[in-house]
Amino acid sequence: MNIILIGAPGAGKGTQARLLEEKYGMIQLSTGDMLRGAIKNQEPLGLEAKVLMDAGKLVPDALMVGMIKARIAKQDCAKGFILDGFPRTVPQAEALDSMLAEQSKNLNAVVELKVDENALIERVSGRHTCAACGAGYHDSFKPTQKAGVCDSCGGGEFVRRADDNAETMKTRLQAFNDQTAPILPYYKAKGLLQTVDGMAAMADVTASIEAALRV
Ligand code: AMP
Repeated sequence: MNIILIGAPGAGKGTQARLLEEKYGMIQLSTGDMLRGAIKNQEPLGLEAKVLMDAGKLVPDALMVGMIKARIAKQDCAKGFILDGFPRTVPQAEALDSMLAEQSKNLNAVVELKVDENALIERVSGRHTCAACGAGYHDSFKPTQKAGVCDSCGGGEFVRRADDNAETMKTRLQAFNDQTAPILPYYKAKGLLQTVDGMAAMADVTASIEAALRV
């Protein structure tokens, strides 16, 4: 099964994609994670993207389309994939249709995680991950059991994304509303769009996604 998760920053796409990946073996394809990996490895593409990401703006379509086209052609995507963070513009959605047709693949569903905008800023401002194992936490909603110590691996170092702050969130939300939201009618017209309440508890959101996918 090939699906897309769409939602504003902080809507829970990454969390839900990881849960679905664990449960059903589909591969999570997060373009944000791929870009952060390219920055970490000091690849030219990462350096080009970093300035835009830090400002909360979208990276050019051509760069993103090239990145995802190469990725979905890989063998590990044959069992299915969950796109998390792509497409983010109508031209990206159109390019995705063409590349799927070329590779004889199709989309089974597009799931929108709908979340209240005020909640997003609070969610994003407090999130951080363990630098050693990547376990995710939130200052208010999911703190570590022992202050400063990762519950999963005992690590003591945590990282916060450079763009997870209230100021950059304003630009990221604007990019979502202006450039990404227009892809919702695009998929609705194709009969693929399902909308899920992303404000519910994490397990309930997962159950709603599963119901939408009928898995
Ligand atoms: P994310 O981790 O999905 O929140 O993405 C972090 C940042 O990476 C975004 O704010 C954009 O700057 C960039 N990015 C990720 N995916 C895309 C995409 N499909 N198109 C354009 N920019 C993207």
